[in-house]
Amino acid sequence: MKPSDQKIKPAPSGAQDVNWGDFRDHLATADKEGHRMWVYPKKPKGRYYLTRLSFSFLLILIMFAGPFIKIHGNPLLMINIVERKFSLFGVIFWPQDNLIFAFGFLLFLTGIAVFTAAFGRLWCGWTCPQTVMMEMVFRRLEYFIEGDAQAQRALDKSPWNANKVSRKLVKHAVFIGLSFVIGNTLLAYLIGLEPLLEIITDTPASHLTGLFFMCLFTLVFYSIFARFREQACTFICPYGRLQSTLLDENSIVVAYDYKRGEKRGTLHRTQDADERKASGVGDCIDCRQCVAVCPTGIDIRNGTQMECVNCTACIDACDSVMTKIGKPRGLVRFASINGIEKGERLRITPRIIGYCVVLALLGLGLLALLITRKDMDTTLLRAPGVLFQTATDGKINNLYLVKLTNKTQHDMPIELKLENMEGTLEVSGGHSLVPAEKQIETSVLIQIDPLKLMTSSTPLIVGVYSEGKKVETLRTVFIGPHK
Ligand code: SF4
Ligand code: SF4
Repeated sequence: MKPSDQKIKPAPSGAQDVNWGDFRDHLATADKEGHRMWVYPKKPKGRYYLTRLSFSFLLILIMFAGPFIKIHGNPLLMINIVERKFSLFGVIFWPQDNLIFAFGFLLFLTGIAVFTAAFGRLWCGWTCPQTVMMEMVFRRLEYFIEGDAQAQRALDKSPWNANKVSRKLVKHAVFIGLSFVIGNTLLAYLIGLEPLLEIITDTPASHLTGLFFMCLFTLVFYSIFARFREQACTFICPYGRLQSTLLDENSIVVAYDYKRGEKRGTLHRTQDADERKASGVGDCIDCRQCVAVCPTGIDIRNGTQMECVNCTACIDACDSVMTKIGKPRGLVRFASINGIEKGERLRITPRIIGYCVVLALLGLGLLALLITRKDMDTTLLRAPGVLFQTATDGKINNLYLVKLTNKTQHDMPIELKLENMEGTLEVSGGHSLVPAEKQIETSVLIQIDPLKLMTSSTPLIVGVYSEGKKVETLRTVFIGPHK
């Protein structure tokens, strides 16, 4: 197809109208005075967008179905900070599993570092809940209610008339409703589905805290999706800010092939491809379609920028332009700086190898911790404010507080025994059964004959048994009179 046959409309002017010459000195979404410039990204279309759309719907389905999915009666994922109870793939974790959390967290951070060093911010554009919900749900609803970028711009500029009022009312009502659903989903991940249903169905007065958080989450999500938008990625998200330290010239990112594209020049109907090449102009026809679709308002032709979430909308836009003018696709594509400059493919650098070694070691550590994870976790502490008491028969009593956490999925009968001293041990309240995945607290009275005590502070060993099998050994001290 000859370029002269093509109709490539230059992108309309709008928020993405910053002075590109000094783009490094200010944000694409703020003017020189620092005022916010609203981004009206053009509706993207293309193969990457379609793939992203299908993948996003799968993620959204998992996200909303998550609280309803139970494994062995436990939620798929629950991060109950209030009760300090966490569920991952149906396995309950307790604060006592802090080493597992620490390893898991380090593994997660290292995994992100490896992934980012190799593949840039693919996570941001394709899997981050903020981007997925913003671009695939809220933005699409906005296109449906207010139209594409140009129509939205015109609507915002128009005076308040019946059309504008009704469209804005519908949009914000839908946004608030959706934010409420998302807020409730988050609450279900935090406290569990049953307590959430209780808050919804019970009398409001009995659940004021729960209702407060419901409203707070709704407000936060509404603010993010209706107003804050791309600013959340640019200003708030720590991962977005970290990317500049994680990326290098071998990282695969969404990039403009400047060697092929420069020097930019508009497409002349009278000029054929050879004449264009001879005039020293590259493949970029400066149509700014890649800028028009960018949800963060940047120009990818300026190079990798912290605002870029690797959403690939600009790849689709440019590919469509290239197809129309009869040039190969990929002027904007997934590539590394070295890939563009030297034609190198993905290279496994020593940095990535180093990260992978750390990742493997952490993974092995985590695996070892999970395999050796104890069924029962017990803490035995002396009761505060009580030293010792002398019973009527002259024996010495010490009071302890014991916390028993059953990490298994079955009830565990428990027996405590003194291991290194002769004496009696009595669990108050007769608690001898710890229900599955529950924690109980009770007190323990230990009585020892003073003649058996060699010092005023005697080390004690207490064995924790379940069905005749020792599950834990506890160490404490027994306080008696001075010797
Ligand atoms: S990079 Fe592609 S979409 Fe962007 S201005 Fe150049 S030709 Fe147009
Ligand atoms: S520059 Fe391209 S990949 Fe980056 S945010 Fe904008 S449209 Fe998405």
